[in-house]
Amino acid sequence: MAFDTLGLKEWIVKQVSTVGYRTPTPVQVNCIPPILQGKDCIGCAKTGSGKTAAFALPILQKLAEDPHGLFALVLTPTRELAYQIADQFRVFSRPMNYKDCVIVGGVDMMKQSLELAKQPHIVIATPGRLAGHLQTAHSISLKKIKFLVLDEADRLLDASFAEDLRVIFDSMTKERQTLFFSATLSDSLNRLQQLAVNKPFCWQAPLDSVTVELLDQKYVLVPAKVKDCYLINILQTLHDEEEKTLILFTNSCRNCHVLTLLLKTLGFSCTCLHSLLSQGERLASLAKFRSKKTRMLVCTDVASRGLDIPSVHVVINTNVPASPKDYVHRVGRTARAGRDGVAITLVTQYDIQRLHNIESHIKTRLEEYHVSEHKALKHINLITITRREVELKLSQSNFGENRKLHFTKRKLLEAKKLKKQPKKKEQ
Ligand code: AMP
Repeated sequence: MAFDTLGLKEWIVKQVSTVGYRTPTPVQVNCIPPILQGKDCIGCAKTGSGKTAAFALPILQKLAEDPHGLFALVLTPTRELAYQIADQFRVFSRPMNYKDCVIVGGVDMMKQSLELAKQPHIVIATPGRLAGHLQTAHSISLKKIKFLVLDEADRLLDASFAEDLRVIFDSMTKERQTLFFSATLSDSLNRLQQLAVNKPFCWQAPLDSVTVELLDQKYVLVPAKVKDCYLINILQTLHDEEEKTLILFTNSCRNCHVLTLLLKTLGFSCTCLHSLLSQGERLASLAKFRSKKTRMLVCTDVASRGLDIPSVHVVINTNVPASPKDYVHRVGRTARAGRDGVAITLVTQYDIQRLHNIESHIKTRLEEYHVSEHKALKHINLITITRREVELKLSQSNFGENRKLHFTKRKLLEAKKLKKQPKKKEQ
């Protein structure tokens, strides 16, 4: 199968081949033709299987036929993913006259309003900031959009986005095509079918396993108290074997920050990504990792969805995620687009049930990764003391204070809004 058999025009097929895509992936083969035919679409395929091009290519082709006003809105759950999708649109659209705008939090709203005033064809946004523009700045109208895309759609349906999505959906007319994509959609299919305006075409990759075959999935049993020692031993081994590019997932911003400082103090070169960093710091950190200035990224689940960094060899879960879906997205940061990769999950005595839940969800048994206890505990004193010092330093800094202020401000605004609303009559 070739790209030109999917109904794509010659110019876009040529552009795709300059990017290095030779043959379309299954999600592209199956979703591009119905999207070009005007159908709503629900596409569910494994992480790293080419979902972005599956919606970007038909949207750009349709845009080239009728390049007027705001044509498409792409919603994603994280800021980094929004920038990444925008980059892909820019690459595919090179031969045409094209303008887009990324609307995410952590960036000056006034500047964004000015960008929106330049009338982009495509807006790629996170729901919170877009809802802010619709409600307060009135700098964008969604009335005439032809395409709405929800990337990582199941995550966007989480309760945390519900209010923002309501604002966005209320601002749109129903004359549009709606496209939903994710690797983990099965639980959300019913809700998505309701959100689509027309009866959607639904394509799901064959469910032999949820994760890709080229991913080697391992677990390490570690006593909770000495987890750091085991982790550092694993990092040292991977570093000694050959220099690998690694992503380490942690379960909170604080743990992410502490682990980064701990690793740096112990001599590892790494950078971190979590939502308590400023947007500038987040982008700088990711750029450093993408450009291989540092080969280790310590992050929270803010990086678990969609980020496409092909050179990542290893994903390490320093905790077992409570939701098997989060596991699937985390490990999907490696073994992308036909490459192989390794995922190692640290499992303590308290996590066995979670591990079983993940194994039954992905229909795969994880193999044990052996770590010598003797070697792991060799530097226990140094590691324990360093962690204590790092934690002390962090508690003396104002880590997380901005978030607390932001939260209080939001609560006050919400309370003010509630006060303004007319009271319902008592029955
Ligand atoms: P995505 O699932 O959209 O994040 O894509 C994952 C990776 O696959 C990205 O690095 C894409 O550039 C790459 N990719 C997407 N489609 C193709 C294709 N048809 N051939 C080769 N690589 C592709």
